[in-house]
Amino acid sequence: MASLYEIRKDSGNGATERTIVGAIFALSTLIASLAGGTPMTQAAEPARPVAIAIHGGAGTIERRALTAEREKQIRDALEQAVRAGHNVLAAGGSSLKAVTAALVILEDSPYFNAGRGAVLNEDGEVELDAAVMNGADLAAGAVAAVRGVKNPILLARAVLDHSPHVLLGGRGAEQFGREQHIEFMPADYFKTEFRLEQWRRRKDNPQAAQGMVVDDTARWYSTVGAVALDRGGQLAAATSTGGLTMKRWGRIGDSPLIGAGTYADSRYCAVSGTGHGEYFIRVAVAHDICARVRDRGISVSTAAHQVVFDVLKPMGGDGGVIALGPHGEIAMPFNTPGMYRAAIHPDGRLEVAIFAGE
Ligand code: ASP
Repeated sequence: MASLYEIRKDSGNGATERTIVGAIFALSTLIASLAGGTPMTQAAEPARPVAIAIHGGAGTIERRALTAEREKQIRDALEQAVRAGHNVLAAGGSSLKAVTAALVILEDSPYFNAGRGAVLNEDGEVELDAAVMNGADLAAGAVAAVRGVKNPILLARAVLDHSPHVLLGGRGAEQFGREQHIEFMPADYFKTEFRLEQWRRRKDNPQAAQGMVVDDTARWYSTVGAVALDRGGQLAAATSTGGLTMKRWGRIGDSPLIGAGTYADSRYCAVSGTGHGEYFIRVAVAHDICARVRDRGISVSTAAHQVVFDVLKPMGGDGGVIALGPHGEIAMPFNTPGMYRAAIHPDGRLEVAIFAGE
């Protein structure tokens, strides 16, 4: 099945076309649906409801640590992003386009650990990771440890659409971005005063130098992610991050790793994670949730809760996920005190929340 990952290729004129492999995959899912499985496409059915969920990171977000002003700014940004993604879906756009639209807004916002406002590494630089996956055909694109890219999610999307690869890293990814006319910004664009202050506080602390958490803000993961369901019944997932504060040695987290921080398969679920990436990678969180739905016949919500609370938490893996099923079922479990999150459910209900129990 490795050839499934070569479904998309650059046609040379910028458009994306399916290869014969995609046709084989579509045929195999049709056969699976005739045999009783869930079909990948619902072409003959009337328009289906759409749904979207986004996150802006999990962590020890406590009410006392957030000023009323900052809390409002964060809630407003979440609402703006989830509405932008939903507008795409409501207009009949694809889930892939919707998750990208939502993430561009969160990357441009200074309040999240992605794009502008991302955390600084040990050298005081911003290095960004991002991934996007199309549940319709398992096509995926991701970038890791890139510098100067204004919207890493657009670069990840370009990898999906215009390269034969899934994950590009560092300078090569940046070179690909220039060839694709992706927008770059000077280093200072990304560094907010909040992040510089966070970095300065930790820089001279010996515990921080060993990569240990020394203050509360370092436990606000604030990576961003989105999952969406479009009118055609297709799911997509996307995640974008600056990684962990004070990261060293070219550290790459779970966000750009397909199956760890990001995964989508339209038959089962779409997932984007946030939290301590080293744990998410080791148990392939996003894929595990989808595999539980596939293999155990349980709901997306049950599968997501199982992985966040029964798998991650006992290991010490702080974090949470947003997960979305093929019928619009949204789950947003987290094992930390809070997770920035928002959703628009199939019935049109808007939800914006930060703390547990909201
Ligand atoms: N999961 C991300 C990482 O480990 C961090 C985050 O969620 O903010 O890179």
